[in-house]
Amino acid sequence: MIDSHVHTTFSPDGLTSMEEILVRARALGMQYIAFTEHLDLDYMFYQNQEQKLNIARYAGRALKLREQYKEFEIAIGVEFGFCEHNKAEAKKILASYPFDVIINSVHMSEGKDAFGGEMFKDRTRREIFSTYLDDVLKSITSDIPYDIVGHFGYISRYAPFSDKIIQYGEFPAKVDAILQAIIDRNVSLEINAASHGSGSLTLPDINIINRFYSLGGMNITYGSDAHSAKSLCRNYREVMDLIRSVGYEYLTVYSGRKPVKVKI
Ligand SMILES: [Zn+2]
Ligand SMILES: [Zn+2]
Repeated sequence: MIDSHVHTTFSPDGLTSMEEILVRARALGMQYIAFTEHLDLDYMFYQNQEQKLNIARYAGRALKLREQYKEFEIAIGVEFGFCEHNKAEAKKILASYPFDVIINSVHMSEGKDAFGGEMFKDRTRREIFSTYLDDVLKSITSDIPYDIVGHFGYISRYAPFSDKIIQYGEFPAKVDAILQAIIDRNVSLEINAASHGSGSLTLPDINIINRFYSLGGMNITYGSDAHSAKSLCRNYREVMDLIRSVGYEYLTVYSGRKPVKVKI
């Protein structure tokens, strides 16, 4: 088993330590795990400075634990919360350590967080989804260094609508622009298993994964987005069955920011 998106207590919302996660990874007989701690420059950092990711401490701990868990690969990564106005600072931080993998994720839209519902006030479903898709395209085509587009469809986790899922048919041009940009940039689309009541097994939903495949998108990663040991590799078998049903035979993993294909 492989998991390319995992948080520990080095993230402000992580619930279990790196050690606890690795004990669980060993019990599951995993092949590869990527720690991808939050690197959000726009809100969490500035609200509470002591929650700021200490990259030296984080990487130091992971490197030490690598010595004790040699039977599987441990990648040291970050999940960058994309935000346009601090790209220069972000680039500096992302270049300050030789990360194995960088996830580029959109958590905010027009300065508002989907988590907590602020984003959804006084706007229609169509307006919100449309703005979100524009933000995702901006993040993908920005000059931030990254390897994986994280949880495309994230706002479906928190959207207060009966139909929370973004359907390809509703926004074909915008979704195609995003998927084509992922292909052109030769980065990976994450299949995120933390769909949290969105009504879909994964984010993005299968209707968009199918479209990515038909456009020729070959690079996908699996991410549980676990914030605790028990969520590691969540719904792994079901997600593998789903992506196999689309036609995929390989997952991509990153080591030293180089992609490697692993048979599912
Ligand atoms: Zn995220
Ligand atoms: Zn995450």
